[in-house]
Amino acid sequence: MLVRLTYMSRATRDMSLQDIQDILQVARENNQGINICGMLCYDQRYFLQTLEGERDQVNELFLEIAEDPRHDDVVIVGYEYIPATTFGSWDMGFAPASDQFYQLLNKLGQNTFNPADMTPEQAVSFLTGLAAL
Ligand code: FAD
Repeated sequence: MLVRLTYMSRATRDMSLQDIQDILQVARENNQGINICGMLCYDQRYFLQTLEGERDQVNELFLEIAEDPRHDDVVIVGYEYIPATTFGSWDMGFAPASDQFYQLLNKLGQNTFNPADMTPEQAVSFLTGLAAL
C-alpha cells in the first residue's frame, strides 16, 4: 500500500547550503534503496517535506527523520493512501527559496513561507508545483 506523508518542521539553526546538501546526499542514497520518493523545501528556517512509498518504509523513515536534531517542532500535515506516486522522478527533490518558489506561494495567497498557514492540500500542491519547476 502506497502512502504519502507530508510534514513540516523547524530547523534548530540556520541551515547553510552545505547543511542542506548533507541532508540531501544521505536522503538520496537511502531513499533510492527503499523506493521512497518525495520533495523537500526549506526557507525561513521551516522545512516542508513529503515522502511517498510503501507504508511501512515511509512510516519508519519518518520516525527516523523526526528524531534528527537538525530540526524540531515536527508536525504531520497530511497522511494519505495514494494509488501511485506523484514524485516518482525524485528520490528526494529539493527546492530552495527562489522567485518561482515565491510565485507559487503567492498563488496560494501567501507572501511568507510558513507551512503552518497551509492546508494539507495546499502543502502537497505547493510541493508538486516546486517539483515541476
Ligand atoms: P547517520 O547519518 O549516522 O545519523 C546518526 C544520527 O545523527 C541520526 O539521528 C541523525 O539524525 C543525526 N545526524 C546526522 N547528521 C547530522 C548532523 N550533521 N547534525 C546533527 N545530527 C546529525 N534521511 C533519509 O534517509 N531520507 C530523507 O528523505 C531524509 N530527509 C530529511 C529531511 C530533514 C529535514 C532532515 C533534517 C533530515 C532528513 N534525513 C533524511 C536525514 C535523517 O534524519 C537521518 O540523518 C538519515 O536517515 C541517516 O541516519 P542514520 O542514523 O542512518 O545515520
